[in-house]
Amino acid sequence: MRQDDRQPEGGADGAGKRASAVVVGGGLAGITSALALADAGLDVTLLEGRPRLGGLAFSFQRGELTVDNGQHVYLRCCTAYRWFLDRVEGAHLAPVQDRLDVPVLDADRNRLGRLRRTALPVPLHLAASLAGYPHLSLAERAAVGRAALALKGLDPADPALDSQDFGSWLAARGQSKRAIEALWDLVGVATLNAVAGDASLGLAAMVFKTGLLSEPGAADIGWARVPLGDIHDGLARKALDSAGVRTELRARVTSVSRSKNGGWRVEVPGESIPADTVVLAVPQAETHDLLPDGALDEPDRLLGIDTAPILNIHVVYDRKVLRRPFFAALGTPVQWVFDRTEASGLAQGQYLALSQSAAQDEIDAPVAALRERYLPELERLLPAAHGARVLDFFVTRERTATFAPTPGVGRLRPGAHTNASGLYLAGAWTATGWPATMEGAVRSGITAARAALTALDRPHGHLFEEAA
Ligand SMILES: Cc1cc2nc3c(=O)[nH]c(=O)nc-3n(C[C@H](O)[C@H](O)[C@H](O)COP(=O)(O)OP(=O)(O)OC[C@H]3O[C@@H](n4cnc5c(N)ncnc54)[C@H](O)[C@@H]3O)c2cc1C
Repeated sequence: MRQDDRQPEGGADGAGKRASAVVVGGGLAGITSALALADAGLDVTLLEGRPRLGGLAFSFQRGELTVDNGQHVYLRCCTAYRWFLDRVEGAHLAPVQDRLDVPVLDADRNRLGRLRRTALPVPLHLAASLAGYPHLSLAERAAVGRAALALKGLDPADPALDSQDFGSWLAARGQSKRAIEALWDLVGVATLNAVAGDASLGLAAMVFKTGLLSEPGAADIGWARVPLGDIHDGLARKALDSAGVRTELRARVTSVSRSKNGGWRVEVPGESIPADTVVLAVPQAETHDLLPDGALDEPDRLLGIDTAPILNIHVVYDRKVLRRPFFAALGTPVQWVFDRTEASGLAQGQYLALSQSAAQDEIDAPVAALRERYLPELERLLPAAHGARVLDFFVTRERTATFAPTPGVGRLRPGAHTNASGLYLAGAWTATGWPATMEGAVRSGITAARAALTALDRPHGHLFEEAA
């Protein structure tokens, strides 16, 4: 422990003052850090530049409709995000399906397949579904099974895997273009935000091993049945308030610097806030701008962590055109489609959201062009959409939705510690081992809080264990 991290027992300094922490950034990483530090007895201030909490996973109003900026799902294996949901008392609002069941519609062949699991042990839990998966030939299904077993033998943390791309690895294991499209990319694009050829083998191995090859129920899908903002903003704010965190919105931090007494000063317009501990839970470019000199050996490496876009296309029909809560699509530019009717508060008709990951080619396309492209595709996939009136069509564009999971990104992602005592990093883009997900964000927030509490000699056994 360094000299200026040392705190007297019981959390108060000699003058009876509680140790203080400022968390910069009110996304999932920052909210988590703030809660964890407050739960350990610190006097915590959370500063968020926008007028709401939730960062990249938020909601907004469009007339009567409450819209999520992008459909968010998580898996049963996302244990840290589930811990977060429990901590903010929101688990009942984002339940997980009983058993993995993903309808997969092939637009060209007009055929429905299912990716489902049984209760059998891994990897047999998926064997029946793979054996009957109609979108692949028998030979392709057998080859997929062999590649899955090979994947099981990989260590996602092996740095050698980070420099290879997943697409080449799949091709070397006999995966056809069709198998990559109809299976590996179907799951991989949605979870990694990149096609296999653009994705780090290490991150892909992490996703497929944890999701599909760890526990039978690991890939069961959960999603919010209410607007994301109800959980990530409303409930989070309530939990922060009850934990005694001072939360300031519209508080954009302009600098973080050492104070004369060896602590920190965090500047927002109109206020300079002193702190013993600072957690920077902002995206990589903002972290680069706020980092004091010397805090990282090579701060410019943060700028090498690229970003990747996600586009969401929102369509409100005058009637019900989809019976299922969601499906994935093949043979069409449409990727995943979710029924958002209930969560959005729409009283009549049906509201569908198309979640289009790795959307580099379309992220700047005009709304009219997207409308012209996607409405006929939806009619091709959903016969009931023929003749249905489109009451609203709009798009949400998240140009920096995730860090790009490119080969080599692993060595650029920093951990929670910096060279500057009392200063820690969090965010889905830090070295969590996970792709940019809500799970990664929460894990990073816990890891940063643990690091800070360890330096302060504070117990943190109450914190979610696995992220240690
Ligand atoms: C459209 C879309 C779909 C997605 N789908 C999924 C999904 O299905 N499943 C999944 O798990 N993940 C998904 N993700 C990813 C997930 O949302 C993110 O990985 C996660 O929310 C990141 O959280 P974070 O706290 O690390 O960062 P952020 O959410 O980026 O939070 C950082 C916060 O810092 C604030 N900030 C920045 N600079 C300052 C400053 N100077 N002062 C004060 N505050 C500042 C920002 O305003 C922001 O609120 C999706 C993301 C998008 C955009």
